[in-house]
Amino acid sequence: MNANVKSVDNPHRARNYAPLPITLSRGEGAFLFDVNGRRYVDMMSAYSAVSHGHAHPRILKVLTEQAQRLAVPSRAYYDDRLDAFLTELCNLTGLDVALPMNTGAEAVETAIKAARRYGRRVRGLKSPEIIVAKGNFHGRTTTIVGFSSEPAYRDDFGPYGGGFRAVPYGDLAATEAAIGPDTVAIMVEPVQGEAGVIVPPVGWLSGLRALCDARGLLLIVDEVQAGLGRTGAWFAFQHENVKPDGVMLGKALGGGVLPVSAFVGTRALMDMFTPGSHGSTFGGNTLAAAVGLEALHVMRDEKLVERSASLGEHMLRRLRNIDSPALRDVRGKGLWAGAEIDPRYATGREVCESLCDKGVLSTVTHHSVVRLSPPLVIAREDLDWALDRFEETLAEFVE
Ligand code: PMP
Repeated sequence: MNANVKSVDNPHRARNYAPLPITLSRGEGAFLFDVNGRRYVDMMSAYSAVSHGHAHPRILKVLTEQAQRLAVPSRAYYDDRLDAFLTELCNLTGLDVALPMNTGAEAVETAIKAARRYGRRVRGLKSPEIIVAKGNFHGRTTTIVGFSSEPAYRDDFGPYGGGFRAVPYGDLAATEAAIGPDTVAIMVEPVQGEAGVIVPPVGWLSGLRALCDARGLLLIVDEVQAGLGRTGAWFAFQHENVKPDGVMLGKALGGGVLPVSAFVGTRALMDMFTPGSHGSTFGGNTLAAAVGLEALHVMRDEKLVERSASLGEHMLRRLRNIDSPALRDVRGKGLWAGAEIDPRYATGREVCESLCDKGVLSTVTHHSVVRLSPPLVIAREDLDWALDRFEETLAEFVE
């Protein structure tokens, strides 16, 4: 039995994912290799967690050296790496205080806790409510899926506690109309990733900021997927010169090798956390801090944000120039595109399977949208090669 069949059929593997039928064993830069040594262009970057590319030498060096020195001393003590990481996060975001966690969902939970306490302690609200957007994806904890509008994420995982109100994404007027006496915060993705790479209208996020200022609300921006260069800016909120009260980071923050996340906010918001109120065994461990700091420095030194902006423009231009009835829409920002497939020609899954056969790895988001988000280090010719295969695939389904 070859390794592929074994993975596909393994009865011990929970069925919460439906992987493409290949078995990967190695990665390098923008490439992945299967157990048979076949090379694929990674057009997915592990949902944007591998923006630095696979096995980045500088990140591996810090990972291995730090692991040999000190990895997890616990947050019961200070260590000699975490402060530089937290300071860098604050410098980059323009915010005051950073609280490190591991996964994106934990950073979101941290934001929710901070906002609710702020609502009670600073605003005097009895039952603080957070406005979110329909189509949101902020993670998989029960609190978070409780305000999801996607049945697949939330059905039968309740009961849920409430405290959230969902409004149409990108709709400023509907958001304003939803503000009630208990509203404490508006929490949004600057681009909705899992909903199918939905780019909101220009002026929406700055409009939300103005609305929050006028009504005394917190603006919390989930940059777990959009942040750290993916949209062609360090943070997507910078496209609109907005300063949020809090921002969640994750995914690429771990340099493609570790789970590292953070909630970074204003002092007034972060002061809601006092000793004992929040934490995580692994959050802010020394190894994660060292790797996270190096991930930020590599991003700066290799100009990955600028690469994302220029290569992203090229990728989106190429995709938008594809003249195929099978391609219903192309959306995106930076090196992050969603190509919506017309179901009369193929499912998103079929397109991804065909791409995989040709040596290009992608995945479907929201049913019929093929996600194209390569590592930010990808060479232009490798990107072009992958986009040629995408064009070829569409043509095959139209034949
Ligand atoms: N927020 C956003 C915007 C995300 O895209 C994701 C993951 N796709 C998360 C939060 C959750 O991150 P994690 O899977 O690391 O918990």
